[in-house]
Amino acid sequence: MNLKEIFSQLNVAGQCRKYGLSLWQCPQFLFLVMGIIIIASSLVTYAIGNRYIENPEIVALLVLLITTVLLVISSVITRSFERLAEASRMKSEFVSIVSHQLRSPLSNLKWVIELLMSGRIASVTSKQLEYLKVLKENNKRMEELVQDLLIVSRIEQGRLPLKKEEIYLKDLVEKAIEEMDIFARSSNVEIKFQPNENLPKIICDPSQIKLVIGNLLDNAIRYIKGKGKVKIKLEKEGRKLRFGIEDNGVGIPQGDQRYVFQRFFRSSNILRQQTKGSGLGLYIAKSIIEKSGGKIGFKSQEGRGSTFWFTLPIK
Ligand code: ADP
Repeated sequence: MNLKEIFSQLNVAGQCRKYGLSLWQCPQFLFLVMGIIIIASSLVTYAIGNRYIENPEIVALLVLLITTVLLVISSVITRSFERLAEASRMKSEFVSIVSHQLRSPLSNLKWVIELLMSGRIASVTSKQLEYLKVLKENNKRMEELVQDLLIVSRIEQGRLPLKKEEIYLKDLVEKAIEEMDIFARSSNVEIKFQPNENLPKIICDPSQIKLVIGNLLDNAIRYIKGKGKVKIKLEKEGRKLRFGIEDNGVGIPQGDQRYVFQRFFRSSNILRQQTKGSGLGLYIAKSIIEKSGGKIGFKSQEGRGSTFWFTLPIK
C-alpha cells in the first residue's frame, strides 16, 4: 500500500461518500466512533473506579450505559452492511436481467444479418457486404460482452454451477487451440503446444476450463504486436497439473500488474493501442480456477511478453 492509498483509507468522510451513505449510517465512521467511545470509556471507568471504589454500583451502572451505547451503534453498523449487501445484490441482479434481455435481440440481429449476407432476400453488392460484415463483427462483440457479463453476475451471486467430469486436460487444450487457429494465423502468431507424456486425468467442468484456456490463448495472441510465438506447456506438479502459456507480446506494465485479475481492468499500454476487450476474461478465469480447486498467476515484463499459468488438482 502506498502513502496515497493509506491517506485515502484514513479519509473516512470520503469513503462514506463513495458508498452514498450518510456519516451516521457509514460503517467506517461508526467504527471510528466506537473506537473513540471504547478508549474514552476505559479511561473514565478507570478514573471513576479509582474514586468511587467504595461504591461499585456507580461503576457497574456506567459500564452498563456504555455497553448499551455500543450495542446501539453495532446494530446501526449491521443495518448499514445489510444496505450495502442489498445494493450489491440489486446491481448483480440488474446486470443479470439486462444481459438476459439483450441476448435474444442480439441473436435475432445476427440471423437477420446472416440472411442479408446470404443474398437470399436480395442480391448484395460487395460494398454492402463489407458493411454487413462490420455489423456482424460488432454484433459478435456485443454477444461476447453480454455472455461475459452473465458469467460475472452468476459468479457474484454464487450461482456459477461447476460440473465434475474426469477428463484429460490435454484434449481441452488441443480443442481450444483448434478453435483459435484462424485467429492465430490471421494475427501472424505461431502456437506451439508441448504437453508432457502420460499426464493423469483431472476432475473439472470441461466447458468452463475450456473457456479459461480460450481466454488465456486469446489474450496471448491478441497482445502480440506483429509476428509472434505462443508456447503452451502442460506438466505434472505434485498433486496438480500445471498449464502454462507464454507469449512474446507487449507485456503488462509493472505498475498495472496487481490489478490484472480485477473486473474491467485493462492495462495502460493496451488502452493506448485500443485493442478490443472488456477486461472481464481474467476475472472470470480466476473465479473458475479457484472454484475448481486450483490457482492462477502470471509473470510479465513490458515489451517482452507474459506467461500466464494455472494449476488444477489431479483426480
Ligand atoms: P480483455 O483481454 O478483454 O481486455 P482480460 O481480463 O482477459 O480482458 O485481460 C485484462 C487485461 O490484462 C488486458 O486488457 C491486458 O491489458 C492485460 N493482459 C492480459 N493478458 C495479457 C497478455 N498475454 N499480454 C499482455 N497483456 C495482457
